Order: sequence, then C-alpha cells, then structure tokens
Amino acid sequence: MTKPRILTGDRPTGPLHIGHYVGSLRNRVALQYDYDTYILIADVQALTDNFENPRKVRDNVLEVALDYLAVGLDPAETTFVIQSQVPEIAELTVFYLNLVTVSHLRQNPTVKTEIAQKGYGEAVPAGFFVYPVSQAADITAFGANLVPVGEDQLPMIEQTREIVRRFNHLYAPVLVEPQALVGEVARLPGLDGQAKMGKSLGNAIFLSDSEGEVARKVRGMYTDPNHLRVEDPGQVEGNPVFAYLDAFDPDKARVQALKDHYRRGGLGDVKVKRHLLEVLEATLAPIRARRAEFARDMAGVEAVVREGTERGREVAAGTMRAVRAAMHLDYFSTPLSPSPHPRRTHVS
Ligand code: ATP
Ligand code: MG
Repeated sequence: MTKPRILTGDRPTGPLHIGHYVGSLRNRVALQYDYDTYILIADVQALTDNFENPRKVRDNVLEVALDYLAVGLDPAETTFVIQSQVPEIAELTVFYLNLVTVSHLRQNPTVKTEIAQKGYGEAVPAGFFVYPVSQAADITAFGANLVPVGEDQLPMIEQTREIVRRFNHLYAPVLVEPQALVGEVARLPGLDGQAKMGKSLGNAIFLSDSEGEVARKVRGMYTDPNHLRVEDPGQVEGNPVFAYLDAFDPDKARVQALKDHYRRGGLGDVKVKRHLLEVLEATLAPIRARRAEFARDMAGVEAVVREGTERGREVAAGTMRAVRAAMHLDYFSTPLSPSPHPRRTHVS
C-alpha cells in the first residue's frame, strides 16, 4: 500500500523561526509517519528576491536542514530536497506559465503584500512575480496530496489547484490536485506586532537563538502601547505577547487568567514577558540542544540532504515523463509521426 504524499518547504533566506514551528513544522513532524514526506529547501524561490546575494541563500541551506533535524524531522521518514538540484521543477514551471495570466497573478494577495513590503512597485522582478507558478511546479513535481503550510500560503495552493485542473483538462489527467493543511496557528505575528513573523522581516525569534537572545527579544517585544502603568487596563487583542502564549503555553486556563488580569489592569508587561520566556524556553531549549548535537556532524547533515535530493529528483523525473507524454513532447520515446514508413534516423 502506498502512503499519500506530502510536499512542503521553506526558503533558505535565514534560519527557521517559532512561526514556522507552530505554523508548519509541528504538523510535519506529526505527519511524517503516515505520509511519504518531501521537504523542499527552496533556494530557487529564495533567489527570486535575493538574487543579488546568492551566498546568503547557499549559507542558509544547511541552517534550515539543521532546524529540520532539531525539531524532529527524521531522515528515515522525511526526504529533504534542494530545489535547484531538481531541474525538472524549472522545466515544469515553464509549461505552467502558459496556463496562468498576468492579471490573475496580480491578484495574489500574498504576493501583493510582499511586493509592497519590499517596495518593488512595478519594478518587481519577473521571477518573484511568478513564484506562485514555480511553487505549483514544486508541489506537483512530487505528486503531493497534502501541503502543510502557514495561512500566507493558501493563495499559492489555490493557484496550484487551478493549474492542475487546467493542465489535466487540456492534456491528460496526470497531475495530482493537492489540499492545504494549515497549522494550529495559521499566522504567528512578529515581535514588532506586525501581522506575520518572517525570516526576512527582522521580527523573528529563531529556533537557533540562544536563551540570552530569546530573553532580549522578548523584553523588547511590542505590547499594548497604551498600557503605560501596571494598574492601567491593557489590551490583549493585537498584542503578540498573548498570541505567543496562545501558541506555546499548554496551560490554556492559566493563559485565560493572565488575559483577564491584563484586561482588568494590575498585571505588568515585565511580569507577563517573564512568564512568556519560561513558556518559550520549555519548547526551545530541547530543540536548541538537539540542533547543537547535529551541528557537530555537518558532513552527516550534508549527506542527508544529498541523498534526499537524489531520491527527490527521481520522483520529479517520473512526473516529468508523464507530463512530456501528456503534452506530446516525448519525441524520442514514441514515434514522431504516425507515418507507416520507417523514420529517417539520420540526415545523409
Ligand atoms: P521569508 O521572509 O524569507 O519569506 P518566511 O518567514 O515567510 O521567510 P517561508 O520560508 O517563506 O518563511 O515560509 C515557510 C513556511 O512557513 C510556509 O508554509 C509559511 O506559510 C510558514 N510560515 C512562515 N511564517 C509564518 C508565520 N509567521 N506563522 C505561521 N506560518 C508561517
Ligand atoms: Mg515567506
């Protein structure tokens, strides 16, 4: 019996953060035993907005792999694949680009937000603008049934489903239509109170941060700006301190009591933050320890990624053969013309 398949991934633009943990990593770890799981280290996608800094992308590939191992993704269950080493994905992207329109791509709400954040305007690099299409190639190259992602990725999964339907209808039903699976925390806000914590936004607690760094970041976190004195009533909504407690504190009744107290007044930010640090450390300390352990054998980490990439490439090559046949591009494996005469095999 074959297991259903998962494909998901991360851009190697920096080490992974606690938003990845609750948004996607936790799900991946739990599902890896029941699904044939592939995780893409998406260096090609990372280059779409970091093409001037390829060194940064390269350096973060193994950082991300270390984060995977540290949170409990097991290379015996999960295949780690470096995107650029699977050229079939680039090939698929080219064919999929025919199946989407520029006006449709313009409406992608996540890309819209990112273009604004990066200040691109109309000068957005074309590669960045079309990255949802290359993401459709990632997912379908692996024939994924399920894609565990954060909420910001839902438009990408929808775009993928549209491309799959279009392709299967036009050519032949060879592509698998995937489902998204959003984590318990769909979108963890940033330390600065922005709607999303992001590696490239300077508002993240990384899984690899030392306890001292985590403490410093928590102390500097944005809270309710109107909560000036301890006795003042404070606001819980839009306050990332409480969003993190919701995400990480297993004692829901205690979180509720803290929220009630904060709203009433009399609970200071320093005190809640001290509690938050303790809660975060309960999750982060073991991850940090495992990360340090794996980091002692970087050659081993590299081997895991190399072997995973080789296996991943075989899967993508299989999809590509089916895609080529569906698009009548399988020139040398089926006769070029249905002519009864033998074909000339060379020009004399
Ligand atoms: P970048 O800023 O470079 O885009 P990122 O932090 O957004 O980095 P990605 O590599 O783009 O991270 O995303 C990897 C996965 O993690 C995606 O499935 C994404 O939805 C999820 N994710 C990223 N940030 C968060 C967050 N703050 N909350 C929940 N999920 C998140
Ligand atoms: Mg992102």
